Amino acid sequence: MTPIFISYLYPMITPDYKALKTLLSIPKKIAIIPHRNPDGDAIGSTLALHQYLLQLGHECQVISPNQAPDFLHWMPGFDQIINFERQNELAKDCITQAQLIFTLDFNHLSRVGDVMQAILEAASADFIMIDHHQSPDSYAQHTYSDTSICATCQMVYHFIDGLEGLDKITSNMAQCLYTGIMTDTGSFKYAATTATTHRVAAALIEKGAQNAEIHRAIYDTNSLSRLHLLGCALKNMEILPAYKTAMIHLSQAELDQYEYKKGDTEGLVNYGLSIAGVLFSTIFIENEEEKIIKMSFRSQGDFSVNEFARAHFNGGGHNNAAGGRSDLSLSETLAQFKEILPTYKNELNK
Ligand code: 5GP
Ligand code: MN
Repeated sequence: MTPIFISYLYPMITPDYKALKTLLSIPKKIAIIPHRNPDGDAIGSTLALHQYLLQLGHECQVISPNQAPDFLHWMPGFDQIINFERQNELAKDCITQAQLIFTLDFNHLSRVGDVMQAILEAASADFIMIDHHQSPDSYAQHTYSDTSICATCQMVYHFIDGLEGLDKITSNMAQCLYTGIMTDTGSFKYAATTATTHRVAAALIEKGAQNAEIHRAIYDTNSLSRLHLLGCALKNMEILPAYKTAMIHLSQAELDQYEYKKGDTEGLVNYGLSIAGVLFSTIFIENEEEKIIKMSFRSQGDFSVNEFARAHFNGGGHNNAAGGRSDLSLSETLAQFKEILPTYKNELNK
């Protein structure tokens, strides 16, 4: 049985590498799962682990709940990812037949979406979780959880090290792991970027990660319409000085006007924090198809957007980066947010 624990008291859970070595010494059918709407860290970590496990002789597949944004499609091995939404039968077969399921960059099965969650819950395989978000669930037989590490990709590096497999990191794997560390640290600028992060990044460059090329492939792929969408978002930005808070909103009509493509709104929320005095930055994005408002929250310092998102918007994440959702309309959600904010006045003005 997996012990129940409180993540605030036990922020780190280290796996039993001896047991994992034994488990992985016999070829198995393995499924590797990133979270829904996968980002650079989710895709980078799953692809690198995939390539590592193939070298150990396993039969394995990465199964993504849905499609990743275009700016990740260049990543080595991306073409082999099975898309649960588009290749549903194949994806279900892989999960059902798997003897082992790795879940990477998330820690609650709800993060893959309802339909896939039910399939995972019914699976007979043992689970291995590798993740750096707070409050991990206890579904996995083997858990590697550390909220102090900036990226799941860095954890996959330590995981492979724990299995004494660093010599198996190929240049393609290094490309993948470097990408996730770069994207989850905002190009090595967020507080969770440590000396160890830089040491791992340096080792990955030595193993063949093309750091400058990766940065260009991820960040220099703007279209003119995306820059116009950025202009629209910045124009919509509102500052609430009493709460040191910035709010951006984008309606479905605005997204349509600027030919929104998946990934186009990535990073927009960070612009709020670039304003002097702002400690809490938010973006509210209407999604007509899913009938929700998707929110992203970022903070500077002690204000926990993870707790805020959990308490009010059915979400979560990290202390300084979290997300949530609302079933209300865009204007109702904005109004609700402004109603909640005064509760945090003291905390935001410490
Ligand atoms: P983003 O704002 O970039 O979508 O997400 C920021 C962080 O919050 C990521 O680490 C992401 O995994 C987490 N996150 C985003 N949305 C949700 C959500 O709806 N629920 C939970 N639990 N975490 C989320
Ligand atoms: Mn991550």
